[in-house]
Amino acid sequence: MVDSLQDLIQKAAHIIVKSKNLIALTGAGMSAESGIPTFRGENGLWSKYRPEELATPEAFFRNPRFVWEWYAWRIGLVINAKPNPAHKALAELEKMGFLKLTITQNVDNLHERAGTKRLVKLHGDILTARCVSCGYKLHMSEPPKEIPPKCPSCGDIMRPDVVWFGEPLPVKALEKAFEYARRADAIIVVGTSGVVYPAGIIPHVVKNSGGTVIEVNIAESGITEIADIFLKGAAGKVLPELVLEVKRISERT
Ligand code: NAD
Ligand code: ZN
Repeated sequence: MVDSLQDLIQKAAHIIVKSKNLIALTGAGMSAESGIPTFRGENGLWSKYRPEELATPEAFFRNPRFVWEWYAWRIGLVINAKPNPAHKALAELEKMGFLKLTITQNVDNLHERAGTKRLVKLHGDILTARCVSCGYKLHMSEPPKEIPPKCPSCGDIMRPDVVWFGEPLPVKALEKAFEYARRADAIIVVGTSGVVYPAGIIPHVVKNSGGTVIEVNIAESGITEIADIFLKGAAGKVLPELVLEVKRISERT
């Protein structure tokens, strides 16, 4: 007989309660219920735009204005979005002492706003602009009025402080993520297609060091075949139920 979602949530909750080094890896699906579109899957941004026209250094230097217009729209979405129950559930799991690190591929700030403190952002921050010449950084609390924005320090153009295709990830963030992954005895993977590397390797690192992979996704992904427990459903529904179950079990023991 196939386990019901409720049975699987219970199994996952037991693993979480027993864990010593639990981590989480999140992707765009985490913020989908906050109204921020994912890149892949239905209604993905990239069904309308080609990624190579937007999220590469080549595209940016060819047409900074076009790329910035796309970012300005996404910055507006992020500023107006609110953390959803999935973000809050992970923040609570951290507060309860179970979740030791959240590693995100998201460039929004919804984990922080939900209260997560132990966070590694692998792909940068969409609300920060960085000068292409001198590296000066500027926090944006609204989409830039002047496009492309100019550096207040040297006058050259600024770019979004995010990692584009073909670019290296921030070294410290990457090192920290892999250090925790090697030590992790369990990982919760939420809303990621698992096809963007090196982030997609993290669940494999946990698995290869003997850890348990728990996945939450509305559909099968590149991670599902190595998942020990696949919780099929929307993150905003499944994660709060999982945390509730963790609470029940840890109060009993
Ligand atoms: P992706 O777009 O490649 O995949 C999204 C995944 O989320 C899919 O597997 C989909 O089935 C799943 N999903 C969609 N809605 C869900 C829900 N409600 N609950 C659970 N799962 C859901 O995203 P990715 O793997 O993160 O990789 C894309 C890259 O795009 C990342 O590098 C990321 O930086 C960037 N990105 C970020 C944001 C953001 O910051 N919010 C948004 C779009 C893209
Ligand atoms: Zn500058």
